[in-house]
Amino acid sequence: MRTQAAILWEARTEWKVEDIELDPPRSGEVLVRVAAAGLCHSEEHHLTGDVPFAAPMIGGHEGAGYVEAIGPGVTLVKPGDYIVFSSVPNCGRCPSCAEGRQNLCDSAAGIMGGRHLRDGTSRHHASGGEDLTITCLVGCYARHTVVSEASVIPVDPSVPPAVACLTGCGVATGWGSAVYAGGTRPGSAVAVVGCGGLGSAAIQGARLAGARRIFAIDPVPFKRDKAREFGATHVAPSVTGALDLIREATWGRMCDVVVLTMGVGRADMMDDILALAAKRGRVVVTNIYPATQARPLLTMNGLGQWEKQVVGCIFGSVNSRADIPRLLGLYRDGLLDLDGMVTRTYPLEEINAGYQDMRDGKNIRGVLAMSLRALPRSRRRTGATSRRPSLHR
Ligand SMILES: [Zn+2]
Ligand SMILES: [Zn+2]
Repeated sequence: MRTQAAILWEARTEWKVEDIELDPPRSGEVLVRVAAAGLCHSEEHHLTGDVPFAAPMIGGHEGAGYVEAIGPGVTLVKPGDYIVFSSVPNCGRCPSCAEGRQNLCDSAAGIMGGRHLRDGTSRHHASGGEDLTITCLVGCYARHTVVSEASVIPVDPSVPPAVACLTGCGVATGWGSAVYAGGTRPGSAVAVVGCGGLGSAAIQGARLAGARRIFAIDPVPFKRDKAREFGATHVAPSVTGALDLIREATWGRMCDVVVLTMGVGRADMMDDILALAAKRGRVVVTNIYPATQARPLLTMNGLGQWEKQVVGCIFGSVNSRADIPRLLGLYRDGLLDLDGMVTRTYPLEEINAGYQDMRDGKNIRGVLAMSLRALPRSRRRTGATSRRPSLHR
């Protein structure tokens, strides 16, 4: 079938929205009509050249949509089902999945930089005939995509796609970083460094897990204001600026959990970040670092003498099959604010404008709403309010 997708042909260029040819789903695969896709920071690392990728690649790994067709052998979903993409596939059978570590599913090797489907062939082809890779085995910056059954999670159809999509990457990742990887408990002091999509979810996870103090650190005033709405008790513009604040508010004990969710990680900040952590405090490294800038500077004695921990975290250490429905349930009950995280929606054709707003610090999360069409230039400025109803399908 013919559809449209946003393709990155090489680093340091723009997304190109083009017609593509999409093959029908093969064995174990699902054709999905994408309804909404979040503009996650991960793809930006490919665009800037920080992280290599297999070009040409369709972006998008945080999305929601409707199953249109299934290939042979698919039993998990049927046409018409409403799904959220799991940005890490969840095969359920590999050793990692069998141990309950679905976020480390062995079928996810190398997915971030774009891959073909699990059998190594492509369903997605550019109009010139070139095979296209899809990021995270999803590729949902598109009106339709074909993915493995392992990449779809059937969910409650009453949650609108523009908010449900966030749970497929950013919200699960941020929330799980504070709750699972960080181990936030009632009474914990938690610092969240970087308050975009991941950080906003980490703050809410910490709040729901019972944190007593939540310190939100971000240089952008708008994001600090939003952080307070999500549950931060204190805010600071920088890591070094937060030191005295945290020392005073915790009687010198510092933070039990420090979650790193800045859009672009800075390994040379690691010593300052470790200073925020308490005895046995845990620093959760969730964000992505430029390939050239990944060596931390650490004062090793601080680690040993205070028993500090630095732990890595991918996809919030969540189990997407259990946790995506769990997060949507919390949203339904009014305990998790997803509406407040979607700052603005854009038509697929305006993906580059959406990423520019992210670079400019204007969005907690921008979301592509596939039902929207690009407006004529003269009407765009007034688009913000007229776009709002698209949150609901
Ligand atoms: Zn993501
Ligand atoms: Zn697996």
